[in-house]
Amino acid sequence: MSLDHTLIHLGEDRKKYFNAVSPPIIQSSNFVFDSISDLREAIGDEVNNHIYTRGNNPTVAILRKKIAALEKAEDALIVGSGASAAAIAVTGNLKSGDHVICVNLPYSWTRKLFSETLSRWDVSVDYVDGRDVANIKNAIKENTALLYLESPNSISFELQDLKACAALAKEHNIITIIDNSYSSPIFQNPIELGIDIVIHSGTKYLNGHSDVVVGVICSTKDMIAKLFKNEYMTYGTIISPHDAAMVIRGLRTIKMRMEHVQKVGMQLVDWLADHKKIKKVIYPYHPSFPQYDLAKQQMRGGTGLFSIILDVEEKAEVEKFINALNNFIIAVSWGGHESLCIPFLAFHDIPGWPDHYVDWRLVRMSVGFESFEYLRDDIEQALNAIGS
Ligand SMILES: *Cc1c(COP(=O)(O)O)cnc(C)c1O
Repeated sequence: MSLDHTLIHLGEDRKKYFNAVSPPIIQSSNFVFDSISDLREAIGDEVNNHIYTRGNNPTVAILRKKIAALEKAEDALIVGSGASAAAIAVTGNLKSGDHVICVNLPYSWTRKLFSETLSRWDVSVDYVDGRDVANIKNAIKENTALLYLESPNSISFELQDLKACAALAKEHNIITIIDNSYSSPIFQNPIELGIDIVIHSGTKYLNGHSDVVVGVICSTKDMIAKLFKNEYMTYGTIISPHDAAMVIRGLRTIKMRMEHVQKVGMQLVDWLADHKKIKKVIYPYHPSFPQYDLAKQQMRGGTGLFSIILDVEEKAEVEKFINALNNFIIAVSWGGHESLCIPFLAFHDIPGWPDHYVDWRLVRMSVGFESFEYLRDDIEQALNAIGS
């Protein structure tokens, strides 16, 4: 199926709603049945029927079809956040006594799920350096049930060889989950490389406009039906029909948005790589990145998210740089219309914060819809503030 068809037409049965070009927001909690037999039939197959909006809703169902097609998956679920997508996919595939292998530096709340919540349910976790698949292999135990990947992660962008990870996991009957938020389905489709479940924080590139918190889970029909019947319905972390319509609108432009943030992201990274006040740029699609070859092999592009390590000795110098930026605004999250920066120094002195071991000189930057010149000039003047 073509990307164009998926983004513009798939799932949109316009004859059902007055030939409206844009899908209606079906703001209804429940759906009517003509007879007891119709009701009985629907309840027997809730994953494919409209009964109650905690299960299925027609507006959300349009989004669900598009997301599954984008990730080359048989089916998908749309949930209320990326964190919830991870929690549903993970807990739906674990039982007490199981062991999980997770790559280093996963998203902070994913780490919390493994280290705090699931440890109370007698699930153990080992974090490994996933850059070498041998580390994953060596961590496999008798009771390993799940391999959790993030390639690239969203701070230092280390990759895993997804084909090799999938093959290793299959050999040992281990379920693989990847958080694919960084690449978006435009630049990476892990299911094609053998990964079982793909999740996203749709809050980032999928919606792309910093106005909806949403998550998605993509997998086989069987896996999605299993998760739907249990964790999806019991946790009840759904997205509203209105938010689903917002995300459908956001998706219309994902191809253009990804092209733009990749182009400007690369221009900025090239320029920063030679700047004397920058110790290092970290971007998986730059020749200086140690896993650049693997990135080119399994991804179709970089994005607008990269990190820089400032060449400074004092924490105060990082603060000067950040406070001097005007066009990169200080905020968490990424992937929206607005360019953002987040200095990891801000988390550094908070005891117990999971990212405390990230270099305090690291600043993560997300490119929005602005031009290269507008953003470069802003960084240039802010770098000039260092040492002043
Ligand atoms: C933001 C983020 C999440 C969590 O998503 P929410 O939509 O905020 O719940 C998960 N993984 C990555 C890589 C993220 O950046």
